[in-house]
Amino acid sequence: MTLTIAGEIDALRAAMIGSVFLPADEGYDDARTVWNGDIDRFPAVIARCESAADVAASINFARHNSLEISVRGGGHNVWGAAVGTGGMMIHLGGLNAVTVDPVARRVRVGGGAMLGDMDAATQAHGLATTAGTVSHTGVGGLTLGGGFGWLGHRHGLAIDNLVSAEVVTASGQILRASQQDHPELFWALRGGGGNFGVVTEFEFRLHEVGPLIDFGLFFFDLGHGAEALRLGRELAAAASRDVTVVMGAITAPPAPFVPEQYHFQPGFAVLVAGFGNGDEHTRIAARVRESLPPLFDFVEPMPYLELQQLLDEANAWGMRCYEKALYLDELTDDAIATFTQRASSNCGPLSHALIIPFDGAYQDVDDHETAWGGSRSGYGIFIIGLATTPELLDAERSWVRSLWGALMPYANGIGAYVNTLAQFEDDRVRASYGTVKYERLAQTKAVYDPENIFHRNANIKPASPSASR
Ligand SMILES: Cc1cc2nc3c(=O)[nH]c(=O)nc-3n(C[C@H](O)[C@H](O)[C@H](O)COP(=O)(O)OP(=O)(O)OC[C@H]3O[C@@H](n4cnc5c(N)ncnc54)[C@H](O)[C@@H]3O)c2cc1C
Repeated sequence: MTLTIAGEIDALRAAMIGSVFLPADEGYDDARTVWNGDIDRFPAVIARCESAADVAASINFARHNSLEISVRGGGHNVWGAAVGTGGMMIHLGGLNAVTVDPVARRVRVGGGAMLGDMDAATQAHGLATTAGTVSHTGVGGLTLGGGFGWLGHRHGLAIDNLVSAEVVTASGQILRASQQDHPELFWALRGGGGNFGVVTEFEFRLHEVGPLIDFGLFFFDLGHGAEALRLGRELAAAASRDVTVVMGAITAPPAPFVPEQYHFQPGFAVLVAGFGNGDEHTRIAARVRESLPPLFDFVEPMPYLELQQLLDEANAWGMRCYEKALYLDELTDDAIATFTQRASSNCGPLSHALIIPFDGAYQDVDDHETAWGGSRSGYGIFIIGLATTPELLDAERSWVRSLWGALMPYANGIGAYVNTLAQFEDDRVRASYGTVKYERLAQTKAVYDPENIFHRNANIKPASPSASR
């Protein structure tokens, strides 16, 4: 390892605005930590970048010293893509500026910003764009993999709202990619993950949202799970784009809005978020209460920012996690029966499984227009095992695998949303993109990262030079 060459580190430090951490430095442990508490790895060097030039200097340093590169946006990837042992972590935490242009309805967001940073800045102008459901997730990884959230039914994926991105490529070049400039790179960035370079700034289109939205949580006991999910399916299919319906198996949290006798009770929930004038939301709440009275419900207007933080605590930093996902073309009664029978057995109180319908604005963009490896129709099922100790995580891992296995006969293949792969098995990455997209991504990879230095991700192998375009 050439890192004993103090002069090289000094030169990197001198070249950067941001900081460089070695294992003995104060700040190193904090910087190497990622969201999944099950990941404990030790990079040889951490470059905490504050500019695109810092990122370029870090890439050049890593290449020169043959260090494996990992790129850390928000650190949420469950596999721990953002951190390796013995390599160089390019930490984007210092690149978190958010600049809103309320007239043009655009936001520019640093490549290491959290969703919460972006939402807070855009909501100050009554605006928002599609982001995920947990505010301490990174804009970077979420967007590059696709990015769905409460606003998806109305405004599509995060990538559908991406206008341009500033990228530092494997050669250290700083480019701006958009429909006009480097269009093939722009296509690949919209779903192809961190394979093509380090994005130092994203530019998104914004929409009027909130500041108040309508929220509803309807909770059903285990015995009414199948009925609840069939009702949720019906509500989702009938909802306008102003309303998002999500269903799942959850444990009632010890939250103020949950009657005390139901704290920690396992069951099934239908969650509804309304972004329109409220009438439709009111009708939905009445319909649920009449047709299948829940054990308890919580129906209130709430600030959009609160909705965006609603699941933060349930997904707190340091939790140990294992996750698997799949897509269903249809949520049949049989699939619901299997889900409800298996989701509630042998599952710890922190784990949960969500069913997310993909329709509405998700379908406004043709599949070939972006590199999104997911489905723009049907349902995504996300099975998330969470625990506080390694031993407990073993049990949750078994639960995740067993529920996933039971549902696979209903799936439309072995592919999944690449951002939810807890292991980047090569065949699942290929299956997620499909052959045509994977080959196009591989061609683009060969242009922008021919040596595959950005490989700690759902990796696209560069096409060989002889492969035809
Ligand atoms: C609690 C939780 C909730 C989630 N909720 C949602 C959700 O609602 N919707 C959704 O779509 N997904 C969700 N996800 C999945 C999430 O999209 C992925 O975990 C994503 O990878 C997180 O991005 P990150 O920047 O935080 O992660 P990181 O681990 O930092 O990065 C993930 C990958 O992206 C690369 N990367 C990150 N930033 C950049 C950048 N600026 N330039 C180049 N490469 C970069 C990294 O190298 C790595 O390969 C959730 C995950 C968790 C753990």
